[in-house]
Amino acid sequence: DATRASILRGPVRAPRGGHRTAKSWGAEAAKRMLMNNLDPEVAEHPEDLVVYGGTGRAARSWEAFDAIVRALDELEPDETLLIQSGKPVGVFRTHEWAPRVLIANSNLVGDWATWPEFRRLEALGLTMYGQMTAGSWIYIGTQGILQGTYETFAAVAASLARDSLAGTLTLTGGCGGMGGAQPLAVTMNGGAVLVVDVDESRLARRAEHGYLDEYTTDLDAAVSRVLAAKDAGEALSVGIVGNAAEVFPDLLLRGVPIDVVTDQTSAHDPLAYLPVGIPFESWRAESARDPEAFAARARGSMAKQVAAMVGFQDAGAAVFDYGNSIRREAQLGGFERAFAFPGFVPAYIRPLFAEGKGPFRWVALSGDPADIAKTDRAVMELFPEDKALHRWLGKAAEKVRFEGLPARICWLGYQERHLAGLRFNEMVASGELAGPIVIGRDHLDAGSVASPYRETEAMADGSDAIADWPLLNALLNTASGASWVSIHHGGGVGIGRSIHAGQVTVADGTALAAEKLERVLVNDPGTGVMRHVDAGYARAREVARERGLTVPMPAE
Ligand code: NAD
Repeated sequence: DATRASILRGPVRAPRGGHRTAKSWGAEAAKRMLMNNLDPEVAEHPEDLVVYGGTGRAARSWEAFDAIVRALDELEPDETLLIQSGKPVGVFRTHEWAPRVLIANSNLVGDWATWPEFRRLEALGLTMYGQMTAGSWIYIGTQGILQGTYETFAAVAASLARDSLAGTLTLTGGCGGMGGAQPLAVTMNGGAVLVVDVDESRLARRAEHGYLDEYTTDLDAAVSRVLAAKDAGEALSVGIVGNAAEVFPDLLLRGVPIDVVTDQTSAHDPLAYLPVGIPFESWRAESARDPEAFAARARGSMAKQVAAMVGFQDAGAAVFDYGNSIRREAQLGGFERAFAFPGFVPAYIRPLFAEGKGPFRWVALSGDPADIAKTDRAVMELFPEDKALHRWLGKAAEKVRFEGLPARICWLGYQERHLAGLRFNEMVASGELAGPIVIGRDHLDAGSVASPYRETEAMADGSDAIADWPLLNALLNTASGASWVSIHHGGGVGIGRSIHAGQVTVADGTALAAEKLERVLVNDPGTGVMRHVDAGYARAREVARERGLTVPMPAE
């Protein structure tokens, strides 16, 4: 039905420019970002309202989408719209400092937080899967994860005592909305990479958008291309159409000299992972016919893929889980050594989280790429000493093709983000930029996520599953003046496995926006520092002390 409704309405594209039809920029920005999430240039399956990450949706149905757009256009600047899993459910009088939209997606009571129960409720039309930035309206295409992926692979190179990945070969799976950042992230680090995806159209899309150099259906040809690049120390990304549960074990058996192995298939949702033996064309029909039997087969295939990943590790490769819960699914599929390799957060990212550092993104509502070029320069001027940031912004300007509204991402920490936010707001006020800037972040974040297989895996104090932190983050962002705030369940790693929160704040050039930005962009990453101080990380204690964060009972 959704597909039919989508065909009838035609493609969605956010309005551009510095004039709004909604009554505040907060409401206009939320509307444009919802629409941008469903722009065919941005979303993986816009006809089904799916933005990325398996079945991560922006709205529950096309009727709900229309009702949200209408409500946002009519919303007064002192009102707040409530969204329950992709459906608008109420408008309340609040005040100008309050968020224009409050969102709760996919939340279930603990004992009911399972995929089968979620799917039952979804089939009744009562909920939707919001992933992280799909249902919170701040997805910016594959670039959204590119810097994180680039920095992760840079950290992998460092862990191998190398300056770059030149001369190495990486193997990975999944070239979808987020996984599609992997080939470009590896080549930006100078390496060769082979990426396996069952869906040729995903590889074609990445090639078209400049994220992937080439792809083929011939595994022998792909292997010889990447091996030649590895030997020559050249950067090259090659996609291979195939099932990772077959290709990974095959390459292990052949003894292909692979240095780094990971995966970003949509393993968090076993219905979004194609098991071996089911033809690609029958995927949807088979998963709909008997979801539990399909999930069991998918887990069996993941067990084979993960067994090969452990085999590569045993042979000396650097292997890590890239945040899709594939280890847990493989364990459920009967492979006992699934947790033999670590998740990427404890392996490479935690020290950044302890400083409140994480992916910080912004979008030009004008639609003018020149606005992003100007903000890129402004960020470089604000942080002249940060070489990694300069290197990243230089590479991004050169390599990243915008998908939908022009956007940028970079990692900034506590007491850094508000400087950028305030500068952007001044640039909007002075007319230097052609329209307001939306500032938000991923839920792959230091302080707003409880996700024991990912962001909070192996916390120093064992607090991995404590989910008070994301709720406090959302409450604080609401109290600080964010334009929209969301609380989600199940993003990244799947139903039952995470609780996380998001915020987005608009720089519209007003004095009020400046006040809000200053509070939100300090407090939001501040919860990341607080969370890591509480868990006993020495670096977080230092950051809190040096940058003036009050934590009444720091852990020693
Ligand atoms: P997506 O649904 O857009 O893409 C998944 C891809 O996996 C699809 O192209 C699909 O064809 C492919 N695939 C499925 N089964 C396969 C198989 N057996 N063999 C080979 N390919 C197969 O999802 P996405 O947005 O790219 O996210 C991928 C995963 O990564 C999700 O689990 C997501 O939660 C996780 N994720 C991790 C991070 C991170 O930074 N670590 C960030 C975002 C998403």
